[in-house]
Amino acid sequence: MKQYRNYVAGRWLETQRQFTDINPVDGRPIAEVHEAERSHVDEAVQSGHRALAGEWGRSTPTERSALMYRIADEIERRRDDFLEAEMGDTGKPLAMVSSVDIPRGAANFRAFADLIKTAPLESYVLDLPGGDRALNYTVRKPLGVVGIISPWNLPLLLLTWKVAPAIACGNAVVAKPSEETPGTATLLAEVMDRVGMPAGAFNLVHGFGAGSTGEFITRHPDVNGITFTGESATGSAIMRAASESIKPVSFELGGKNAAIIFADCDFQKMLDGMMRAIFLNTGQVCLCTERVYVERALYASFCEALTNRVRTLKLGRPRDAGTDLGPLISGEHRDKVLGYFRLAREEGADVLVGGGVPRFSDERDGGFWLEPTVITGLAESARCVKEEIFGPICHVTPFDSEQQVVALANDSRYGLAASIWTTRLDRAHRVAEAMRTGLSWVNSWFLRDLRTPFGGAGLSGIGREGGVHSLNFYSELTNVCVRIDAG
Ligand code: NAD
Repeated sequence: MKQYRNYVAGRWLETQRQFTDINPVDGRPIAEVHEAERSHVDEAVQSGHRALAGEWGRSTPTERSALMYRIADEIERRRDDFLEAEMGDTGKPLAMVSSVDIPRGAANFRAFADLIKTAPLESYVLDLPGGDRALNYTVRKPLGVVGIISPWNLPLLLLTWKVAPAIACGNAVVAKPSEETPGTATLLAEVMDRVGMPAGAFNLVHGFGAGSTGEFITRHPDVNGITFTGESATGSAIMRAASESIKPVSFELGGKNAAIIFADCDFQKMLDGMMRAIFLNTGQVCLCTERVYVERALYASFCEALTNRVRTLKLGRPRDAGTDLGPLISGEHRDKVLGYFRLAREEGADVLVGGGVPRFSDERDGGFWLEPTVITGLAESARCVKEEIFGPICHVTPFDSEQQVVALANDSRYGLAASIWTTRLDRAHRVAEAMRTGLSWVNSWFLRDLRTPFGGAGLSGIGREGGVHSLNFYSELTNVCVRIDAG
């Protein structure tokens, strides 16, 4: 069986404890993963500091930018290996992995390689009494050793979204992928090794969260910053751990995202958009819509059209022709989502379509599949309307006025993303701005310009990444103030 090892101080490291990487399509093992112990994490952190004190610490933005282009090129050269590893770990359709996960993983390196060479820094001249002046300018320095902890839903994309700006700014990195998806992260370490990343500048450690590798990173006194994507409850645990040594944190957390559909929308475009927004990656994207609010005049026809489209979705293996949806990531997560399907019925929901476990009568019955599901009729206070489910399900509710729907959409402790569907220009801008979220899409969903701020309000996160916002998180900005005599 394949072995996924740790990459520490420029060397491949095997450990005594291993865990099994499972293919969610059929529940079969695909690799053995070497779990890093506390001492390995410590060695990774110390090797990061050695790299910062050496050649890596002296590298220029131009040199790092060139290196990042080589990383992107190498990911593309090994595209087939990356596709295979991502599909093996997640069961996602080839169509998604080949158009989103892997190309965007490479694109992250090029985007931040370009940005680090062009991002402006502030400069001010202060006039002093008597004619002297003070010239202030900002110097961008790395934070130090950055701990990066990433989730399983977009494994390579979300890992590189943080690794790329961190190394662009000259940091050393200790990265931990999700225990569910160690494959493409291990390939990324191979890429780093091949392109000549200095030893210790990029470290990869495998393992779990609490009491394991994740916690060893977040509690480590010599880790200088933590960037994390995952569940809000995990964010809260990491914040407690990081507070011991006052580390800066950047958190991209969960969501309970609303879509607002006005009767004047372009129906077909909206329906195509909503199918993606609800079901992409089997609903396992933090930005996916789980709450759909539809203007009453359109409500019945929307429910009917959505239900009909859901019936056409094809659940299949990654390489099967026409596959729309793959499985959920694990048996544990499938059971959690199935629990919400049951809870929805107990809370009094009408199930328009789905709600169960599909039967295939082949090897997939050993995997972690669920039917795509649409429910209606729940009170706004129902747990299925309030809590993040993170599966192929949405709840649809009618509304009567713009004012009412803005209040409904904003009535959430989360605040990640919203999408608004209307052809009225004034309304589109007004409602998009009124959302208490980090992202508002109008007549679109999941369109990302990597230069724009990304993050969430409330339980959905702390801080913004993307473009210069990422550079600022991964930098220690120093203001230099020079007094210039009037002469
Ligand atoms: P998770 O929080 O269970 O795990 C994420 C990572 O944190 C994993 O690597 C895990 O091993 C690690 N971890 C868990 N407990 C830890 C601890 N106590 N200390 C240190 N590390 C720990 O999340 P998940 O199930 O992998 O991902 C799904 C969640 O991620 C959903 O809530 C989703 O909304 C969220 N997410 C958010 C965004 C965003 O950009 N806002 C993007 C993708 C996913």
